[in-house]
Parts: sequence; C-alpha cells; structure tokens
Amino acid sequence: MKKYDYLVVGAGLFGAVFSYEAMKRGKSVLVIDKRDHIAGNIYTKEEDGINVHVYGAHIFHTSDKKIWEYINQFAEFNNYINSPVAIYGNELYNLPFNMNTFSKMWGIKTPEEAKAIIADQIKELNIAEPKNLEEQALSLVGTDVYEKLIKGYTQKQWGRPCDELPAFIIKRLPLRFTYDNNYFNDRFQGIPMGGYTQIVEKMLEGADVVLEQDYFELAKEHKLKEGTEVAWDKLLFTGQIDEYFDSCYGPLEYRSVRFETEKLDCENYQGNAVVNYTAADVPYTRIIEHKHFEFGKQPTTIISREYSSEWKPGVEPYYPVNNDKNNALYQRYADRAAKEQNVIFGGRLGQYKYYDMDKVVAAALDAVAEEFA
Ligand code: UDP
Repeated sequence: MKKYDYLVVGAGLFGAVFSYEAMKRGKSVLVIDKRDHIAGNIYTKEEDGINVHVYGAHIFHTSDKKIWEYINQFAEFNNYINSPVAIYGNELYNLPFNMNTFSKMWGIKTPEEAKAIIADQIKELNIAEPKNLEEQALSLVGTDVYEKLIKGYTQKQWGRPCDELPAFIIKRLPLRFTYDNNYFNDRFQGIPMGGYTQIVEKMLEGADVVLEQDYFELAKEHKLKEGTEVAWDKLLFTGQIDEYFDSCYGPLEYRSVRFETEKLDCENYQGNAVVNYTAADVPYTRIIEHKHFEFGKQPTTIISREYSSEWKPGVEPYYPVNNDKNNALYQRYADRAAKEQNVIFGGRLGQYKYYDMDKVVAAALDAVAEEFA
C-alpha cells in the first residue's frame, strides 16, 4: 500500500504544473492518465525528425512575463510567429484580419480605404448590441470578411450556426489596420524547440506516473491496474467535470477534433504551418504542416487535416461549448464541486473553459497559491 499527498488525474499541462509545484514543496504525487502517454493535448511525437502536434497545433503565446519565464524553465523556445493563411475557394488571404487581407479582398492600399469599406458594410446591418458570434463578427469586420473568412469556418469548427454561438469566441481573433500577419497580439510567442512533451516530462520528474489508468476504475478499490493499492490525501481532477459527477445534472457539450495525418514525399507541401479552409464545402477546417513550427529542413513532410465533430463518449473532448445553456449547466457542477472535500478541479475539462496554454499555466499556479497559502 502506497500513500500519496496528491493524486493528479490527467498528465496534461494543468496537472503537470500543479504536480511540479507540489513536489517542490515536498509533497508526494501520483499522476495517472488514461492515455498511453503524458502531456495531454500538448503531446508532441517525433517522426522522421519532425515534432508532430498529435492533438492539433499548439503555439505558446502570452503577454504575461511571469508565465513566459515560468514555461521557459522547461524548454528553450524558438522565434516562431503564427501567421496562418486562409483559403476560400481559389482565393487566399492572410490572417488575422489585417491590411494584407483587406488589400487582397478589395484592391485597396490604405487603412482609411479599408475602414471606409468596413464602415459602409456595417452601417447597412444596423446592429446595435451584438448578441451572438454572427452579430459580433459582422459588426467588427462587415459582410465580406464574415462571409468568406468566418462564417463557414466557424460553423464547421463548432457545428452550430454562428448566431447560436457566444460572441467571445471571435474576440480571440485580432482585427488590425496594419500590414501585420502575426495571429496573436501577445508580447511573447514561440514553439519549444524539440516539442512540448519534454516540458511535461521535466515537470513530472519525481512523480510516480501511471499511464493507461482510468480514474473511475482506480476510485472503486484504490487499486492500480497492476495491483498496487494506493491512497491519497487530496485529488486534483483535470478530466470532464460532468463525468466526475456521473453527469447527474445532464451532460455538458464538447467539440472534438479528428486528425488525418499523412506523410508526404515532398519537402514543403503548403509553405506554412497553418492553412485554414474557410469555405463550408471543404470538410476539414485546417491543414497543419508540422515541420514549419520549427523551421524544419527535412526532405519529407507530415501534414494533418483537422476535422471537427461533436463530442460523444469514446472520442476525445477538446473544446468546451461555452454557450449560455452549457455555462448554466456547468455552474451547477461547479457549485457541487465547491462542496467536494479535498478535490481540486482544473484545466479545460475540469473548469469547462476555453483556455489557452498560458491561461492553463496561470490557473494552475493560482490553484497552487491557494492550496499552499
Ligand atoms: N475563426 C474564423 N476563421 C478563421 C479562424 C478562426 O472565423 O480562419 C474564428 C472561429 O470562430 C474560431 C475562432 O475564430 O472558432 C477562434 O479561432 P482560433 O484559431 O483562436 O481557435 P483555436 O486555435 O483555439 O482552435
């Protein structure tokens, strides 16, 4: 029988940061994950010298210097800047929406001309207070950009019409009137040279890590798959909060993503790490060419087509669907979670939040601060 201070369920970024900090404070930690590898959705796997982002593109970006310095303890980051392009039919545009986009779309040159066109389109729409993603997008960028670059992509990614989605999703995307293709406004950005898995590996040094271990199985008899009996004082749960409570108030909705990954016998397939396909009639949302995250010079390449789907049991949940209905339901689970003794809920699934990586690290450090106050 082995006794731990903490059982951490989920070896992703939240669980790893928490584990690292707990061990730094002399605590013993058992980490379990139902997958056969650590690092959750930031897991990268080396193939033919290329670090493949197995669960989709992950670009670390933050404006918080403390978080940037924190993550840099665990890897050296390169100077990658995310500058995706969007393909709509046979038209190609730079993202995020900026002067390169507008110039290509309307044949104009100056910010004044772009602003005038957008203002004209917005005026006709008569939207006072945007109530959903569609109205938010239209009242920010007008009809042309919405129709070509937002509508189809968003409906594919979320599987819901844009007028049934919350406005905040689109606020993630900058709009600017300079010729700047940097997808993010953040001060710090990059990809860890050598991939993300090493970061979690370092964070988990000193912890007992058991893979392919289901928490709900373990919770029954406190016995690991191979038979060891274990006990713990406190639990950090980073899985789906509704599943933890046996979906007692009904299931929360999530979106899932499926990747079709292919090795190609060419050196450079699409000339960019991320190419979005924004038309509704292309079944995938984007193609990732992994080598470009690290400026790879390999003779061959690996690409992943990304397909979005509704989550159902048996597939991986990726995105919480933070509309009013789900947020209200989540609140009921969160209230119950607050009463749960000796359990912390964390991460995208545990807190039902569309977190970026920097926010995950920040939230984990907040949980640490609270726990060890
Ligand atoms: N989006 C869009 N067109 C694009 C890229 C993004 O309309 O070409 C919208 C879409 O609604 C998406 C949101 O912006 O859900 C956020 O995109 P982001 O790239 O931040 O999503 P993530 O990388 O988290 O999947």
